[in-house]
Amino acid sequence: MRQPLIAGNWKMNGSKSSAEALLNGVVAGAGEISKAEIAVCVPFPYLYLGEQLLAGSAVRLGAQNLCTEGGGAFTGEVSGSMLADFGCRYVICGHSERREYYGETEASIAQKLVRATESGLIPILCVGETLQQREAGEMESVIAAQIDGIVERIGIDAFSGIEIAYEPVWAIGTGKTATPEQAQAVHAYIRGRIAASNGSIAATLRILYGGSMKPGNAVELLAQPDIDGGLIGGASLSADDFLAICLAG
Ligand code: 13P
Repeated sequence: MRQPLIAGNWKMNGSKSSAEALLNGVVAGAGEISKAEIAVCVPFPYLYLGEQLLAGSAVRLGAQNLCTEGGGAFTGEVSGSMLADFGCRYVICGHSERREYYGETEASIAQKLVRATESGLIPILCVGETLQQREAGEMESVIAAQIDGIVERIGIDAFSGIEIAYEPVWAIGTGKTATPEQAQAVHAYIRGRIAASNGSIAATLRILYGGSMKPGNAVELLAQPDIDGGLIGGASLSADDFLAICLAG
């Protein structure tokens, strides 16, 4: 049985005061959530706040990126061990926004996954197709390449310490959600792709859905057999909406 994980991805949003209010709001409601594991992936400057305000609660802290290198002369970068030092459990890797705007590739994402696990973090590896790719019938081949490109580089065994998030690019921040059937089909495909290399890892692997998940569609999405949680963008910026999704988990 895979425990659902509901993780908020705040992206580059908030201020010190709004982050504080949001963290306090999530902690205040988290006691009501018994089934799902809850995490918030905050911007780097709010990690310290997160560490302080989440202490003693069941809400886990996460970050949205890390450096491909372990430390040293890499101006502007943040290492996995720094994230671990602030109490992070999770780190998002290979989000489509990072692939699109910051040139992340399977090669750099694979390095980040290794750095994350070396630092004791659990990476959340994002995969997903664009609308153009879906319409061209390339959805499966795109997802396969994104997964195989990692498996080839770091090996299938690494997936016992990784979560995957399926985030169709066309559903991110657009209000267009994949239907539960569309999402389930891709999640089953991803699990099958992993199972082809290792069945027991595939059986325990959590595959989260991300892309305009909100309180109104979370129950149906999370009821699908291969959807093991959510990676929530916009709706994670409201404690009430985020907690409502957590309750659905
Ligand atoms: P939205 O929930 O805002 O569509 O964002 C999804 C996402 O990108 C989470 O990583």
